[in-house]
Amino acid sequence: MRLFDTHCHFEDLGTIGEIVSRAREAGVERILAVGGSANLNATALAAMREHGCLAALGYDRDQVDAERPPIDVEGLSAWGEIGLDYHYSPETRERQCSLFSEELEKARKLDLPVVIHTREADDDTLSILRSIPSRGIIHSYTGTPRFARELLDLGFYISFSGIVTFRAADNVRESAAYVPLDRILIETDSPFLAPVPMRGRRNEPAFIRHTCSFLAELRGIGADAFAELAFANAEAALGIAQS
Ligand SMILES: [Zn+2]
Repeated sequence: MRLFDTHCHFEDLGTIGEIVSRAREAGVERILAVGGSANLNATALAAMREHGCLAALGYDRDQVDAERPPIDVEGLSAWGEIGLDYHYSPETRERQCSLFSEELEKARKLDLPVVIHTREADDDTLSILRSIPSRGIIHSYTGTPRFARELLDLGFYISFSGIVTFRAADNVRESAAYVPLDRILIETDSPFLAPVPMRGRRNEPAFIRHTCSFLAELRGIGADAFAELAFANAEAALGIAQS
């Protein structure tokens, strides 16, 4: 089985090597290291340059008031994560929208796919994505099938994290059963959201097989077949050559 973790944050430079080598042992052939802040951008860049990961860099919605040093774009596979979250910080809505638009414009100029976080911000997400044509991934999806339909119609791939394995996440399972098999992705969102049966531990890419098996069963196909189709979808979403 070969697996593709489409969303991983590395917290510190010193542990990237060991995390990546445990992932390789677990069959995770590719990891998209994702930034979003100056610190996460630095670890994602190191993961790309020194540990064979792919990288997405950008500035996320929680960085509206932070320092946002310019990004070295060489070698990037995507731009992100970027997006909107009104669950944690509804008071910064306007500034989140303008940062999100700016980041989408940068990705468009660079012709890179984007990695988008969206929570309790369906309407603004859709209206901004309709005004700035973009392609890429909606990550750790927790929205409704109806919102997913709109995002699919805009051409996005939809990625599910370990949340789909959580007992209370029936709504997420409903969406995971809905997304077409040629547009679905899997991710860890490490170090957060470890899937059952690892829940409560610090998450890492090696744990993605649990989410893979869970989704395969939900969709009624074998885990190997599901891993393979999710792998091919991730390559297509990032516009990298099929391997
Ligand atoms: Zn993330």
